[in-house]
Amino acid sequence: MLSAEVIAIGSELLTPDKTDTNSLWLTRELNNIGIEVMLKTVVGDDGARLEEAVSDALRRSDIVITTGGLGPTEDDITRQFTANAIGRKLVYHDDIEAHLRERFKAWGREMPEINKRQAYVIDGADILPNPNGSAVGMMAEIDGKILAILPGPPRENQAMFTAHVFPKLKAVAGEVYVRRRILRVSGLGESAVDEIAAPIYTSYKDVQTSVLFNKSEVEIHVAARSDNADVSKATADKLADELAAALGKAVFSTDGETMEQVVGSQLKQRGETLSVAESCTGGLIGQRLTDVPGSSAYFMEGAITYSNEAKMRTLGLSAEILEQHGAVSAECAEAMAAGMRKYAGTDHAISITGIAGPDGGSDEKPVGTVFIGYAGATVVKSAKLVLPGDRYLIRWRSSQAALDYLRRQLK
Ligand code: ATP
Ligand code: MG
Repeated sequence: MLSAEVIAIGSELLTPDKTDTNSLWLTRELNNIGIEVMLKTVVGDDGARLEEAVSDALRRSDIVITTGGLGPTEDDITRQFTANAIGRKLVYHDDIEAHLRERFKAWGREMPEINKRQAYVIDGADILPNPNGSAVGMMAEIDGKILAILPGPPRENQAMFTAHVFPKLKAVAGEVYVRRRILRVSGLGESAVDEIAAPIYTSYKDVQTSVLFNKSEVEIHVAARSDNADVSKATADKLADELAAALGKAVFSTDGETMEQVVGSQLKQRGETLSVAESCTGGLIGQRLTDVPGSSAYFMEGAITYSNEAKMRTLGLSAEILEQHGAVSAECAEAMAAGMRKYAGTDHAISITGIAGPDGGSDEKPVGTVFIGYAGATVVKSAKLVLPGDRYLIRWRSSQAALDYLRRQLK
């Protein structure tokens, strides 16, 4: 498999205000033709560091792509220092200058003299035209490695890559088909998942598998590559199926669907309806459910009953429950779900009540203590969670746990 590196150039990309997104886009394109990005670098407008980054990258990787720093101004140093890195000279191209002058004339302007800088090209490199801007790109082969030098603005960068770099790389990479599957797992930690999954995926030598933790769930990414599309697909699917079977009902999604999509399709399939009573999540579950197009088929109603008074008035909780057990209790969560189900007349209702922090915790009920409730036609039940994280994460994880609780009921 060919390896690639992306070098994003520009001091603004080292500030907190601007993110390098070019490398993300390029990585997707490269992955699609079976080329793996092994390293990314962001370099400011600093000649020595840029030169070093480019020569290091060419030593390590088969393909190196730089973006940015091809503008006409003093701080646009990519031409000079990539040339230095590969020990070549810059040569002046009268035809590029003539073309630039024409472009400016077409905009009704005189070309500023500094734009002449953009007519310098690395000796022996292919010139990549830029229909969306003034800077041409370059592509050169150095000892069997490929160096592509692209402009920074995404619109220019992407068009140039697609038209001139992609076909070349595709030819070099040969026929490679990649099939990806993403499994999502809830209710098990990363190590627990890996303990079950590793013995299976390590026996697939040609499949790249990674296990990663994501806010409230563990994801298993599977990527199978081969020169035959059917083989890639069959291999990835076989591994994904084996993993799903071994992990059982903890797997909530086998092709990248979100929890709210999964719960939504379960409800839709059964032709059943849902309502939600939320306290500490403040409407987050309702928002997540309604993010899914078509959710009106099954999601009827949500109530944000934040205060005790609202819990009594809207959900019909008794004062005794709140006095005896408190608002953060199994009894309260169950009464909230049952009250909501009755009020909305739905087949199912779920509820959440908890302490998201940072204040409000006690020894008995520390921050992160959350109760989730479920009410259906024949059962009312609840579960207690003690969730780690800050306010944002506790709320997010609560919403995920409540949706997962429902999912397991419907399974
Ligand atoms: P060119 O190579 O075409 O001259 P440049 O990088 O020299 O581009 P800049 O003025 O630095 O020109 O950047 C042009 C625009 O492209 C800016 O909005 C900049 O933030 C954006 N840009 C540059 N590099 C990236 C990147 N890696 N990811 C996302 N945006 C980028
Ligand atoms: Mg720049």
